[in-house]
Amino acid sequence: MVQEQLNLIREEIDRSMSVAGRKDPITLVAVTKMVDMELVQQAILAGVLHVGENKVQELLKKRDILGEQLQYHLIGHLQTNKVKKIIGMTSLIHSVDSIRLLEEIQRRSEEKGVVTDILAEINISEEQTKTGMAESDILPFVEQCCMMSNVRLKGLMTMAPYTDDDMLIRSVFRKAYEIRSDIQKRHYENITMEHLSMGMSHDYKIALEEGATIIRIGSKIFGERNYDQLGKNE
Ligand SMILES: *Cc1c(COP(=O)(O)O)cnc(C)c1O
Repeated sequence: MVQEQLNLIREEIDRSMSVAGRKDPITLVAVTKMVDMELVQQAILAGVLHVGENKVQELLKKRDILGEQLQYHLIGHLQTNKVKKIIGMTSLIHSVDSIRLLEEIQRRSEEKGVVTDILAEINISEEQTKTGMAESDILPFVEQCCMMSNVRLKGLMTMAPYTDDDMLIRSVFRKAYEIRSDIQKRHYENITMEHLSMGMSHDYKIALEEGATIIRIGSKIFGERNYDQLGKNE
């Protein structure tokens, strides 16, 4: 089941990439939040190398069990008081959404002697999704990143509104692409902005057509999440 879904998704990725005329590499993050370990193991057997969790505790638990064979992405909101626990445990934190949080990541990374890769989360459809920075907050955030020696800004992350309106979804992704291009054109020191993390189960094809380099897929791989389980394992 997991293997078949992954095969299907990989085919769709190839198709979207050729529609977009793209040949650059893209990263598939399998979102394992609230997914049974057995299914996660199946995904690993089927070649998954990147997993995403939206809670610090869950990420650390999966990492304890699955170890260094995988790359761990934190994709959910990060509270300042949890930064200390997560530093050194992720390959990428997608959800950095304030300068205050950025400063804490810098401080704890310096303490541990590591460099932490992050994305800036941007909120483009403000009325519909609650997380992420407003467009006007992004440049000050990027400039702050330039001054930090233990944090590397690798790009932007965004979420489209949950809707069937493909045009609206597309316009959000296109806007994220434009904002990233604008930052790239400014040639900030130490900031490459190579990544654009956007696209989930229902909209990743549109995201790939609009330039996503990282897609985050959960339910399409593992099936619908059972929210009754929420909190059970914590
Ligand atoms: C849950 C989640 C996903 C995956 O969502 P699906 O619709 O199951 O693919 C992607 N990104 C974030 C930030 C999430 O919280």
